[in-house]
Amino acid sequence: MDDQHEHGTNTRLAHTEYQAPQGFSAFSCGIHHASTVLFKDVAAMRARSWQEKTSYTYGLHGTPTSFTLEAKLAEIESAKHCILAPSGLAAITLVNFSFLKQGDDVLMPDNVYGPNRDLGIWMHKQYGVMARFYDPMIGAGISDLIRENTRLIWVEAPGSVSMEVPDVPAICTAAHARGVLVALDNTWSAGLVFPAFERGVDIVMQALTKFQSGGSDVLMGAVLTRDEALFQKLQTTHMRLGFGVGMDDVYLVLRNLPSMKLRFDAHDRSARELASWLQARPEIQKVLHPALPSCPGHDVWKRDFHGAAGLFSVLFDTRYSEERTDRFVDSLKLFGIGFSWGGAHSLCIPYRIEQMRDRWKEKGNLVRFYVGLEDTQDLIADVEQALAQL
Ligand SMILES: *Cc1c(COP(=O)(O)O)cnc(C)c1O
Repeated sequence: MDDQHEHGTNTRLAHTEYQAPQGFSAFSCGIHHASTVLFKDVAAMRARSWQEKTSYTYGLHGTPTSFTLEAKLAEIESAKHCILAPSGLAAITLVNFSFLKQGDDVLMPDNVYGPNRDLGIWMHKQYGVMARFYDPMIGAGISDLIRENTRLIWVEAPGSVSMEVPDVPAICTAAHARGVLVALDNTWSAGLVFPAFERGVDIVMQALTKFQSGGSDVLMGAVLTRDEALFQKLQTTHMRLGFGVGMDDVYLVLRNLPSMKLRFDAHDRSARELASWLQARPEIQKVLHPALPSCPGHDVWKRDFHGAAGLFSVLFDTRYSEERTDRFVDSLKLFGIGFSWGGAHSLCIPYRIEQMRDRWKEKGNLVRFYVGLEDTQDLIADVEQALAQL
């Protein structure tokens, strides 16, 4: 402050002279909020590079809080680079807008996350990007679908409603032979039980809204890669779209991250128990859980994965009408009815799967379970009483 005259109240409110002492240390990461980032002088401002994560430019490109989460996620997924986005869907959008332009072709599995399918159809109408949908169990056969202008193939392992486990390495080999990029929606595995980059994937997308947040209260997404050139494209698109994230939300994810593996394993154990129990029930025609042989792609899951998330589906016996399976869902007391998953609370939701897919041959109503952290025996007892309402 200058000594010429006493500053007025407004100036003093804005310019605090107090500086907290250096050397504070704690396990928690500070929540650094900023739109404006200050430079020490004009030369420092001119020398800035928003692409470099060794310094700071503007809140949109990150603060120490978001850089910390990005670094942690990259480490868990064995990636080199990570970019945060305001939701899982924003992360998907970031991938599509980074690698597709007018006249390009993108292949998506028929069981792709619904809003990504919708985005593909919209990109076709609005931006002249052709989106085609393939059988998720196609494996190496994807080769026959690749065209001159195919740029990107999406994979989802497994599909988050119908749970087919695709042969990701076979799809990657076929794609790379023709110079096509492969992007994986790795939300189900949370970067924990499917080593995506080792299996050949170029770009991983995760909805941090699920297991990373773990609280059913945050929306966020991430895109990860090992490739420098792909990262630069993603970073430029991220800047152009203005996909900033709120640092309070980043902090919430950071806060729950240390317990993610323990939670994931607990969801896995409990879901497998419930899935096996359901398999023995006469009301259930088929359990679609990757760890059970009845799930399409179970052998691929055994070969490529070392765990399962707490999310699976069942097909009810064809003798039950939608009205009756809806009554089952309504009768559950411990399972909430709602979208998304990854939190402590169990969820259950019916899907009109035949309306979501180009090809769906199975019969029977599909109901999806997300198994939270409640005691498994209580969840089984709840499902048992709801089955009695059928
Ligand atoms: C939830 C989810 C998304 C999208 O995440 P949001 O944060 O809800 O936008 C994408 N893919 C899969 C498989 C998901 O389950």
